[in-house]
This record gives sequence, C-alpha cells and structure tokens, in this order.
Amino acid sequence: MIVAIDGPAGSGKTTVAQKLSEKLNFSYLDTGATYRTLTYAALEEGLDLSREVELAALADSLDLRLEGEKVYLRGADISRQIRTPLIDKNISQVAALKRVREVMRQKQRAMAQGKDCVVEGRDITTVVFPDSDFKFYLDADQKVRAQRRIDQMKGGEEKIDCEEIEKDLIKRDKADLSREVGSLKLSEDARYIDTTSLSIEGVVDKLFSIIKGKPQSEETKESSNEGKR
Ligand code: C5P
Repeated sequence: MIVAIDGPAGSGKTTVAQKLSEKLNFSYLDTGATYRTLTYAALEEGLDLSREVELAALADSLDLRLEGEKVYLRGADISRQIRTPLIDKNISQVAALKRVREVMRQKQRAMAQGKDCVVEGRDITTVVFPDSDFKFYLDADQKVRAQRRIDQMKGGEEKIDCEEIEKDLIKRDKADLSREVGSLKLSEDARYIDTTSLSIEGVVDKLFSIIKGKPQSEETKESSNEGKR
C-alpha cells in the first residue's frame, strides 16, 4: 500500500510522514532527500547545475541509500549535510530539470516497490504515485512554515540566518509551484489538510484515522481545513 503526501516546505510533511510510517509499521520514503542528495553530489563534483544531460547522468549513477531518516551517499552518512542553506539555495534549479526528474522518478518508484510505504514530496500524489491508495496534501501559513524550517535547522553546525531561511523558502515555493515538470499541485483526489494550528500528533492521528477508517478525535476534526478545496 502506498500513502502519498505532498505539500510545500514546512507544511510538516516530513515529520508527519515519518511518524505515520512508524504508527502504520510502513517504510518511509523522503523524496526530497533524493533531490537533496543529487544537489549535494553535483556541488561536490563542481558540476554546472544548468547542464541537464550531465545532471541526469549523475542522477542515474547516484549511489544513494535511504534508511528511514538516514541518507547515505556512496556509503557515507550525509543526512545533515543535505539540509543546509547551500542545498536549499541550489536545489530548485536541479529539481526543475525534466530529464533529472525522469531518472529520479524511476529511482523513487523502485525504492517503494513492493512495500507498504509512506512517500512524501512535491509530485508524489500527481506524478510519481498517481494511483496511490491514500493521497494527502499538507499545507500551513507561510510564517509558520518558515519558523518550522528554522527550528528544524537548529542544532546543526551551520549558523542560522532566519531572514535568509524565510527568503529561501518563499523562493523555493515559487520555483516548486511554477516549474513546468513535477510542480507542486493539489491533486483532485487528495485530501487537503491545513496544519497551521495542528500539533504533529494531531495531524498523524488524523491521517491514521482516515487510513484505518476510524472516526477522528475532536482536536483534529476542529483544526483541519478540508473545506478549502
Ligand atoms: O521536501 P524538501 O523540502 O526536502 O524538498 C527539497 C526540494 O526538493 C523541494 O523544494 C523541491 O524543489 C524538490 N523536490 C521535488 N520533488 C519532490 C521532492 C522534493 O522537486 N518529490
């Protein structure tokens, strides 16, 4: 069974998808991490990020392994290195390339194949797994999303510039929404959930209840925003 979750940065989808996969006893696939790893590898090799053919070839040969939240490139743990402002700044350029997306899409499908899996990203409900069993689109106010991103980065080695992070998030939103291929879209048959005032546990419980066909608790019922669609 595939549970697909799309949404913009800071919508809570990564944490929610991780916790939901644990609760369901499913595998977890963070497709953002695959694009992050590719961007990291391209920068490491000093590639020109506008060279579509070279980047697609790099994507194809990428020795990438995801184990839950851990990300390995050629066997080395790069989970922290792929979540820096440098990667945030450059990733949209890489993720906009059609051939790169074609290769990554195949890799992502192969990673989830034959598994019960919670998969999250930008085009999972629309392009990668359009026939998934459950589709969700998580969203939240921009300010709240930026603050979540800042909190996520705290504890890392990099110094945090909150203004810069917010600016990058707005830029990334724009790029993700407007690119020609694999853009962030609310799929017709996805459930829209506004997480602005919901706790992580509240969102996880809500999704879990929907998947298991159980009635939702009062907190999650009141704070969800499915009427938006
Ligand atoms: O989810 P996360 O913020 O880690 O994703 C980083 C970037 O990777 C996104 O801003 C987007 O440009 C790209 N991405 C994508 N398609 C996906 C997942 C992520 O284009 N399925």
